[in-house]
Amino acid sequence: MKMSETIDAKNLRKVKKELMTCTYCGFCKSVCPVFQRVGWDPSVARGRMVLSYGLLQKEIPADPSVVEYLYQCTTCKDCERRCPSKIAVVDVVESARRDLVAAGHMLPKHKAIVDKVKATGNAYGEGKSVPETLGREPRKAKIGYFAGCTATYRDKALSSATLSILEKLGEDFTVLDEICCGSVLQRIGVDEEEVEKLWKRNVEMIRSLGVEKVVFSCAGCYRMFKEEYPKRFELGFEVQHITEYLAGKDLKLRPFKGVVTYHDPCHLGRHCHVYEEPRRVLAMIPDIELREMPRNRDTAACCGGGGGVRSAYPDLSKAIAQRRVEEASFTDMLVTTCPFCVNNLKAGAEGRKAPEIVDLVQLVDRLL
Ligand code: SF4
Ligand code: SF4
Repeated sequence: MKMSETIDAKNLRKVKKELMTCTYCGFCKSVCPVFQRVGWDPSVARGRMVLSYGLLQKEIPADPSVVEYLYQCTTCKDCERRCPSKIAVVDVVESARRDLVAAGHMLPKHKAIVDKVKATGNAYGEGKSVPETLGREPRKAKIGYFAGCTATYRDKALSSATLSILEKLGEDFTVLDEICCGSVLQRIGVDEEEVEKLWKRNVEMIRSLGVEKVVFSCAGCYRMFKEEYPKRFELGFEVQHITEYLAGKDLKLRPFKGVVTYHDPCHLGRHCHVYEEPRRVLAMIPDIELREMPRNRDTAACCGGGGGVRSAYPDLSKAIAQRRVEEASFTDMLVTTCPFCVNNLKAGAEGRKAPEIVDLVQLVDRLL
């Protein structure tokens, strides 16, 4: 990593208006999950605006502390909700990261992930394709299931539960010969052209199967197809998060006696505005009692696992998750709908009395 040089901030130049609009009011301090743990101004949106402006104006070098603070953002978007000036904080942070990466400042943990995606098409460096790993051949079908790297290679219980539900509901579906959706690369600042190569490969593969609708069990992959891919490609197929798909079904579920709460993943909630569908699915379960945490829907607290923070700063990520798990301590079960949230919340629950942490898909499969 190059040390202490100013950088050419060509991506930050595109968001200069955002940087100039920040009034440094500090309202973002009241919600930022990172600031709540680090407690130091550069670790909140206001500080990241100052650092980004400094990089843009070549007033500060890209020294290790600047790199660290710009990479400690989970891209949860909660500050944008709170910001009176409606600053696109996540765009600024990701623009700064692209400039840092272009100048040779990629964090070693992130470089390892990027190298794996380039070598194998998945973020874990696994040699087998998604269909080989899931033990199914892709075929022409109405519904395609985009499993994502994590549910394929690490949390296979989630992909198995999703496939099981599609089977139980008698759908005409197929697995997809997918590669990484590009989410992690985009979050950590990899050059847009590199990321778009992944998008193009996935879109062409899905079209070749004549799929009409693609269903996702990962909130991060879903956000990419819902928000990012359409900026460059005419998809030619519908995209749905699995909770949107399930909310449209008349599910006949066995009862579940217990108090549950629902954690809104940032990628699904604040980024894609999917709040009610998961709750509608939970409401289809007889006898269940859904009680909300004080921070829910657009005010939901981040689990701490996103934006490349978990891979680069696992202790920070875990500390943020601990706080979210504590907020759910009045329940028997903490339900969410993203493998990253499930994993990070489980890390936050380690060694403490906590509710069971479950992906909604696995709960539905158990009761269907
Ligand atoms: S709330 Fe918005 S305007 Fe205020 S300091 Fe934070 S980013 Fe800047
Ligand atoms: S996106 Fe989230 S983590 Fe990043 S500055 Fe805003 S509130 Fe903090």
